[in-house]
Parts: sequence; structure tokens; C-alpha cells
Amino acid sequence: MQLYSTNHQSPNVTFKQATFKGLPNDNGLFMPKIIPQLEASILSSFNKMTFTEIAHIMAYALIGDEISRAKLEEIVIDVFDFNVPLAQLDENIQVLELFHGPTHAFKDFGARFMARVMSHFLETETQEVNILVATSGDTGSAVAQGFVGVPGISVTLLYPSGKVSGLQEMQLTTIGQNITAIEVSGTFDDCQKMVKQAFLDPELSKSLYLTSANSINIARLIPQSFYYMYAWSRTKAPAKEVIFSVPCGNFGNLCGGLISAKMGMPVNRFIAATNINKIVPEYLDSGSFNPRPSVQTIANAMDVGNPSNFPRIEALLGDYDNIRNYLIGAFHNDEQTLEIISEVHKKFDYFVCPHTAIGYGALKNYLAEHHDLSGICLGTAHPAKFFDIVIKATGKEVEMPYRLKEVMGKEKISISMGNKFDDLKGFLLD
Ligand SMILES: *Cc1c(COP(=O)(O)O)cnc(C)c1O
Repeated sequence: MQLYSTNHQSPNVTFKQATFKGLPNDNGLFMPKIIPQLEASILSSFNKMTFTEIAHIMAYALIGDEISRAKLEEIVIDVFDFNVPLAQLDENIQVLELFHGPTHAFKDFGARFMARVMSHFLETETQEVNILVATSGDTGSAVAQGFVGVPGISVTLLYPSGKVSGLQEMQLTTIGQNITAIEVSGTFDDCQKMVKQAFLDPELSKSLYLTSANSINIARLIPQSFYYMYAWSRTKAPAKEVIFSVPCGNFGNLCGGLISAKMGMPVNRFIAATNINKIVPEYLDSGSFNPRPSVQTIANAMDVGNPSNFPRIEALLGDYDNIRNYLIGAFHNDEQTLEIISEVHKKFDYFVCPHTAIGYGALKNYLAEHHDLSGICLGTAHPAKFFDIVIKATGKEVEMPYRLKEVMGKEKISISMGNKFDDLKGFLLD
């Protein structure tokens, strides 16, 4: 697999190089030079295959020149050892439940795959690898769970103090072993900036083998294409009549959908659903892309003021007109989000997390005017991760999965830090 930088100022790299570098030196993002289109006969056979069989075929088509077919099979079976159910709500709306992995958010797909791929490549390495992750809530623990106990790898998580849910914080700060949690007095954007700067710092890269694990890492992006294909294969709607609604923050999840479409998945359109950090819906409306500091919402994993995967959307879809033909923007504020959680619960006796609620609301509104389509909303986190918000909206308690119950009883261990790059640099060099 050859990957180029979206800024076109860095040389092409292999999948292995892109996985460990995270970001190209020109500050762009790695993108595959070629995204292979699967044959129609393969696409039409997906409805008889399991999730892991589909994932294996897609992974092999993309990176089969660097990891053997047998190894990829072992990796996908290992990584995706949880269910990916589709819940039918309205007649024409399903929720793809991507939250049955170890940390109960969709980040498990990308993070576990990336961790497993890195561990595979590192079997022949001798230097200790440091994985740096900025997290707005769910990424950090998913990555950490993928790497916990793996020899030769240490993970440093940066999260914005007071801006992740209590449960998310416990998931981040109670893992221990080779995982260190840093509590930054700042926003997620600050954390992201600190991490980005660390990779560009010559002094750090001389003394440490640093690598990124954010949604900017291509090894996290690729597996996020698998579940779109799987969900599409399970719908009975004719080709091009399915629309996906994606609750978006950094837009890595949506890029996974676009990759799946490039590989041949016949999809109508994608809805880019956000909270009031509505940079992309605004762009779709006006044509101007205006990143700005993020605003805190109850859908906190989507509190992103400068969606880092945006250049990939341009790389995959082209200019403004094409992007606008393919993506529909929608956003909801906190009050609307609570209403949607309540409505879905009343109508279907079904709990959604605030992020999923935003995707569902956007889809519902769109389908009200497009009756001929059917929609799949990506369920990005387990509602129990947002226990208090769900109670506030519905008056009811969601049942806690055992892994979440377990984490609440543990001791929080974190390192407090300012929001400046020098703070992080000093810590890493120490
Ligand atoms: C990360 C996350 C999102 C946003 O995904 P992006 O790939 O950053 O767009 C949405 N919902 C939940 C629950 C998340 O953890």
C-alpha cells in the first residue's frame, strides 16, 4: 500500500511507515494512493458473510501487500470479537450498535485494529515505542485497552480536565501498567495541539520513538470502513437507497464510510451530524471552512472545533460541489439532543447516548422529506457511558455493562499538566 500526504510535500510511504509516523512531515494527513474497488460478485456475496469475513476481505484488498492473508485473518478475528447488531427503530431507520467492544464506544474498532497491527509490525523491532494520544473521551481508553500489557509499548493519554464524563475519566485513569493518563487543564483542542507539536519536535523525535494513535492514524481509519460495508450488506434496500447518518467530531468515522463507498458500497449519501460545534455543516451550507475553539456540549466526544480529518474528506470527495452532493450537514444543540433521547426512549423503549441521538435526529429529519430512502444511524457509544444524561432525558436508568461497573470501583491515577507544549515535552524527556 502506498500512501501520500494530503499536503503533497512529503514522500509517499508504506502502510507500516504511515502507521508509525502518524503524520507526514509536511503536516498533512496520509491517504492511500489507490483505494481498490471490490468486484460486484464479491459485494453481492457479503450478505452471506460474517462481520469478520467482510473485514478480512476489505483489509486484504487494502493492505494485503504488507501483511499476509493469514495474518490479517488472525488479526480481524482477534480484534472484532464482539457483536455488531443492527437495532430496528422506525420502519426505515436502524441503529448500527458499534458499542459492544471493551470500552463501549466505536473507537474500539479502530484502536484495537491499530494496536494489533502495530504489535504485529513491532515483533521485529527492538526500540521502545511511545504512543501519544489526545482524547476527547473515548479514544484514549480504546487505544489503551488495545495496548495494555503489550511489551515494548508505552501509551500516554492526554485528556481535558473536567471535560470528559466521570465514567470516561475512570476508564482513562484506572488502567495502569504501561498506560499513563495526563489530565490537561485546557480543552481537547489544546491536547490535540500538544500532541501534534510533539511529533514535529526534532528534539523529541531524536530521543524517543513517538507515534500517534489518534483518528489521524491511517491504521485506525481503515477498520472504520468495515462496519459500513457490513451494515449495508444487511439491509434489504435496493442499491443507492441507503443513507448513513454519522455523529461527527474529528470526522474519522465519516472518512471510514467514504472509503467503504470508494471500495464499492452503493450508498446514497452520508449525513454529517454534529453538535453545535458545527464547522462542517456550516461549510456545507456556505462553502467556507471556519475552525474555531470548541464549545462544550453533552455530546462531548464530538466537541471538536477544528475537525482534523477534513483534508481527507477533500481528498476523497474533491471540491466543494462534489462534497456538497455527497454529504448532508445537520446539527443539534444540547436541548434538542435531550429531547431526542427522550423521544426515542418513549417510542421504542430504546436508549441512545447523546452522540447517537444527534445522528438519529438528523436522519429522522432528513427521511421525513425523503420517504423512498432508508437510513442507518451509527450508534457510537453505549448509553450507559452517559448514565446521568440519559436519566435526565428519560427519567430511567440504563443497565450498566459489567465492564463499566467494574471501572467505577477503581482508584483514579493521573498526572496534572498545563496546556502548553513545553509542559508535555518536559514530561516526555524526563
Ligand atoms: C469519537 C466519537 C465520535 C466522533 O467520531 P469522529 O471520528 O471523531 O468524527 C462520536 N461519538 C462518540 C461516542 C465518539 O466517541
